Amino acid sequence: MRTQVGIVGAGPAGLFLSHLLHLRGIDSVVLELRSREHVEKRVRAGVLEQGTVDLLTETGVGDRMAKEGLVHHGIELRFGGRGHRVPLSELAGGRAITIYGQQEVVKDLIAARLADGGRILFEAGAVGLDGIDSDTPAVRYRHRGRDEVLECDLVAGCDGFHGVCRDAVPQGVLTAYEREYPFAWLGILASVPPSTKELIYSHHERGFALHSMRSPTLSRFYLQVDPDESLDRWPAERIWSELQTRLAVADGSWSLAEGPIVEQGITAMRSFVVEPMQYGRLYLAGDAAHIVPATGAKGLNLAVADVRVLADALAGWYGDGDTGPLDAYSERCLRRVWRAQHFSWWMTSMLHRFAGGDPYQHKLQLAELRYAVTSKAAATTLAENYVGLVEV
Ligand SMILES: Cc1cc2nc3c(=O)[nH]c(=O)nc-3n(C[C@H](O)[C@H](O)[C@H](O)COP(=O)(O)OP(=O)(O)OC[C@H]3O[C@@H](n4cnc5c(N)ncnc54)[C@H](O)[C@@H]3O)c2cc1C
Repeated sequence: MRTQVGIVGAGPAGLFLSHLLHLRGIDSVVLELRSREHVEKRVRAGVLEQGTVDLLTETGVGDRMAKEGLVHHGIELRFGGRGHRVPLSELAGGRAITIYGQQEVVKDLIAARLADGGRILFEAGAVGLDGIDSDTPAVRYRHRGRDEVLECDLVAGCDGFHGVCRDAVPQGVLTAYEREYPFAWLGILASVPPSTKELIYSHHERGFALHSMRSPTLSRFYLQVDPDESLDRWPAERIWSELQTRLAVADGSWSLAEGPIVEQGITAMRSFVVEPMQYGRLYLAGDAAHIVPATGAKGLNLAVADVRVLADALAGWYGDGDTGPLDAYSERCLRRVWRAQHFSWWMTSMLHRFAGGDPYQHKLQLAELRYAVTSKAAATTLAENYVGLVEV
C-alpha cells in the first residue's frame, strides 16, 4: 500500500492529523494497533483548552462537542478545608475550558475520516520503520495475520508513549528528559450527577483528590495513591470514603453524592520529553514525544497543537516545496511542550502530598496555594496556562 503520509496510531494526534491533511488535499493512511471499539471506549482526558475547541470547531468536527460539551469558566482549589474559586475566563480574556471526553473526540474524528473516505486500518500494529533517513520511508505492520508494508513520503509517529516509532530513531540522536513522581492516580468514572458545577482540585493531608465530570450524569474522580498500588485493594467503599475525606469542607456546607462505579484504573504520573521530535522523514507527535502528569490537563491539548504545526508544515512542503516549516517542526512544538511541562509539574508539585511528609515542603505548598487564590497576578498565571496560551 502507498500513501503520502503514513500515520501510526489512531489516538487524538493521528486521527486529527489525518483530518487536517485531508482538508489540505494530502492523502494519509492511519495504522492502529487496537480495534475501533477499543479506541472509541478508552476513557482518558476530558479537559479541552479553548484553542483545541476552536480548532475542532473550525475544521468541522465540533458539532457534537458544541451540543454535549460542558463549558466551564472557573475551577476550584480546595485546601485547609475551604474552597477557593479561580475565575478562569475573567482572568484569561474570556477564554474557557470545555469538558468533553477524549473518547468522544476520537469517535467524532473517526466518523469524519470514514465519511470523507479516509483509510484507517484497525488491528494493524506497526512493528517497525524502514528508510526514515531516506526519501522512501516505509512502515512494516501486521494486519489480519499477515505482514504488510505501507510506503509513504513521510511517517507521522502518533503511536503514544509505548509505540514503536520513537525507538526507530538511531541511538544517540534523541535526548530524553524525564521525571517520575512518587505517586499514581486512581481514576474512577461513576454513574452519578457531579456534586459540583466546576472541577475541584483538592490538596489534603491524606493526598490529592480531583472531582471532575464527563456529563450531567457521569462524574470522574481521581485519588493520589502509591505508585505500585493495586486496584484489588480499593473496593468501592474505600474509594468513596477516601473521596469523602479528601474533598470535605470544614463547615459541612458541601456534600459529595456517591453512585455506581462504571470504570476504574490506575495511571502513573510521569513527565517526559524527547528532543528533537523529528529525525529524517519521521515526525513524532503527541504522547510519542512527550508525557505530562494529568494534573495540568495538557496531554491531549499538546497532541492537537503538535499536529496542527505538522499539518501546516506539510501543506507548505507539498504545496511549493518549502522545507523551512518542516525543518522547524520540533523547535516550534517544543516551546509549547516545555511551557506545558512546567505548568503540569507546578500543579502536580503544589497539590500532591510527597512521601515522608516533609513539614517544610507542606508549608510551602500551602503558601503557594494561598498565593494562587489571593493574588490576581498568581491566579492569572494559573488561569491563562490552564485555558491554554495563545502564543508561547
Ligand atoms: C487517566 C488519564 C487522564 C488524562 N487526562 C487528561 C486531561 O484531562 N487533559 C489532557 O489534555 N490530557 C489528559 N490525558 C493525556 C491524554 O489522554 C494523552 O495525552 C492523549 O491520549 C495523547 O494522544 P496521542 O494521540 O498522542 O496518544 P494516544 O492517545 O496514546 O494514541 C496512540 C495510539 O497509537 C496506538 N498504537 C500504539 N502502538 C502502536 C503500534 N505499534 N501500531 C499502531 N498503533 C499503535 C495506540 O493504540 C493508540 O490508539 C490523560 C491521560 C490519562 C491516561
